[in-house]
Amino acid sequence: MVGRKVYVAGHRGMVGSALVRRLEGEGCHVLTAPRETDLREQALVRQWFKENAPDVVILAAAKVGGIWANDNAPAEFLYDNLAIEMNVIDAARENAAEKLLFLGSSCIYPRDAPQPMAEDALLTGPLESTNEWYAIAKIAGIKLCQAYRRQYGCDFISAMPTNLYGPGDNFDLATSHVLPALIRKAHEARIGQGDFTVWGTGSPLREFLHVDDFADACVHLLKTYSGEVPVNVGSGQEVSIRELAKLVADIVGSAGELVFDGTKPDGTPRKLLDSSYLAGLGWTPKITLAQGIASTYEAFLANGA
Ligand code: GDP
Repeated sequence: MVGRKVYVAGHRGMVGSALVRRLEGEGCHVLTAPRETDLREQALVRQWFKENAPDVVILAAAKVGGIWANDNAPAEFLYDNLAIEMNVIDAARENAAEKLLFLGSSCIYPRDAPQPMAEDALLTGPLESTNEWYAIAKIAGIKLCQAYRRQYGCDFISAMPTNLYGPGDNFDLATSHVLPALIRKAHEARIGQGDFTVWGTGSPLREFLHVDDFADACVHLLKTYSGEVPVNVGSGQEVSIRELAKLVADIVGSAGELVFDGTKPDGTPRKLLDSSYLAGLGWTPKITLAQGIASTYEAFLANGA
């Protein structure tokens, strides 16, 4: 990476900003695009690539959101993500970028895939309906990278993170994922401004990875991996939503009862990645769930809660 121009698409987001932090120590020149370069607009993306000619591209830009947001804005989750992927991946080819890393999500795997989910579970069954719009777009992105590798010889790779969390997360209750939502609710319960309400039954199982660990894994893949497999990036730290809520309550210091709201969906019952392929490439995570929640809560407080 030394001396290379590395473009982080989506640098304002949680993942993109973690990548920018992580790349600081790599001796590369990190490029970001201004807000006006709407990645859904092909002409703007082509122009930016022509002017900046990145050597390496990390595609961390996406329209993202939790279970409620996905279910309520299906057109945006599908269209925006497809447009971003097509424009950035094709512009990277057109400008002869030497490497591109596309970031997907564990929701690309079938709802009933055997757990833990290995990379070869892709396209073996129906998707979870609450986020199929996002998942279809992300599957298309993986396929674009594979197709560009086959047809044009581009060294474009993909990584599939499990549920990520950390500083810069979205703490808005309507659109966030579960972990930042629980941090906000536990905090509000602690200061007497609300109940600690947990959506669904609390029984679904989820795996969580701190975004700084994920950024580290991305750099590792860029340096060591070249191939078609969309590499899973998980932590192996799996908890039920009920256990997670208790852990968050402990760390935040909110003493009240947990209330379960059965009118909200559970989503897929279990979502654990098999990350043994990545382990074979020599990478393992470093941040425990308890450490990660504590530092994310600190970041939440530092940002004015
Ligand atoms: P998913 O992993 O794609 O299902 O997305 P989420 O992170 O949004 O939700 C994970 C699980 O946490 C689901 O079973 C949700 O019902 C549950 N959950 C519990 N409380 C909340 C909450 O306040 N917000 C969100 N987004 N999910 C919650």
